[in-house]
Amino acid sequence: FGWWDRVSPAAKDPIIGVTEAFLADTNPHKINLGVGAYRDDEGKPVVLQCVRNAEAKIAGCDFMESNATAVGSKLVEESVKLAYGKDANVVKEGTFAGLQALSGTGACRLFAEFQRRFHPESPIYFPDPTWSNHPNIWRDAQVPVRTFQYYHPVSKGLNFAALMDDIKNAPDASFFLLHPCAHNPTGVDPTAEQWREISYQFKVKSHFPFFDVAYQGFASGDLDMDAQAIRIFLEDGHLIGCAQSFAKNMGLYGHRVGCLSVLCADAKQAVAVKSQLQQIARAMYSNPPIHGLLLVSTILSDPETKALWVKEVKVMANRIQQMRSTLRESLEKLASPLNWEHITNQVGMFCFSGLTADQVDRLVREFHIYLTQDGRMSMAGVTTSNVSYLANAIHEVTR
Ligand code: PMP
Repeated sequence: FGWWDRVSPAAKDPIIGVTEAFLADTNPHKINLGVGAYRDDEGKPVVLQCVRNAEAKIAGCDFMESNATAVGSKLVEESVKLAYGKDANVVKEGTFAGLQALSGTGACRLFAEFQRRFHPESPIYFPDPTWSNHPNIWRDAQVPVRTFQYYHPVSKGLNFAALMDDIKNAPDASFFLLHPCAHNPTGVDPTAEQWREISYQFKVKSHFPFFDVAYQGFASGDLDMDAQAIRIFLEDGHLIGCAQSFAKNMGLYGHRVGCLSVLCADAKQAVAVKSQLQQIARAMYSNPPIHGLLLVSTILSDPETKALWVKEVKVMANRIQQMRSTLRESLEKLASPLNWEHITNQVGMFCFSGLTADQVDRLVREFHIYLTQDGRMSMAGVTTSNVSYLANAIHEVTR
């Protein structure tokens, strides 16, 4: 019997496809602007010193499973402080349900499942555009997926009026996924004032804000500043959901460390919500691997290691910011007739360049520069030594 006869190949993930093509290219000038992973000015992946220090601290420790719950609780406690603020009432009073998750993706997946269990009819709204995996994650949890307007292709900034309209026009009590900082793929974030208006409208409409925090620290270099959207919603008394990833800001991609938290009306509700999240996780993967959990909980709970991490986050954010300025200046020096202000106006790891699919194709074919068809460039792939080659190539395909 032909069990799998009807199976045809799945569509390739757009980002993984770019990396494969980059790896297969033997040209010495090739640049990978596809992946959202931090690279240093030599183009190399970085293991942060705070991670090295944490590794030394946990060397020889007991990796028994019995330990996992305690380490998980520590991680959750420290993660929620990062998101909501160390002195936030929700943290002090324990009115949140939190669970360690398999990085940001796993946190989103857990929440999607939880959402479907308790609000099976409610859709989730994603910004247009959003990280390409968001629709996959909620689709697989059988949650109806919708979009709200976000990006303005002409200004290459936020389409705030359209965004507010879509929030107002969505059915009351809808779920919305928000990127609190360093929006992927556009690098476009609302201002504090705009977040206040969004939060106000969410109150009016009783929408649920679900924050996907994958790049805390990468927008401004400051972890608290990058949580300002969450803090604004918190002040307004929303119950919030939050997926946190340590893949980028701690450079722990392969370790899959993250946290899901859901704010609740009181501590009793938090116990119930947490038990449901645990039940979902138990059936999906039981427990997360403990090694990465130990690394992150050590970094966050040891003051010296944490201070080092805070500094290292700033270094990464500054390097990216520097590359934005240099790329823009280089294009202006080439007398490009186009406006490149958005390169420095946008924040975080990505620049939504505005290049068309045809221009991207030319960058790949003629210049060995790899990026997704939507024109998203990972600024982490730009270095002092390749920035002028890149500027030149962009100028050539856009002149
Ligand atoms: N959310 C967003 C917006 C992202 O860009 C990413 C990573 N590309 C994630 C979540 C999840 O990343 P991870 O599962 O590696 O933590």
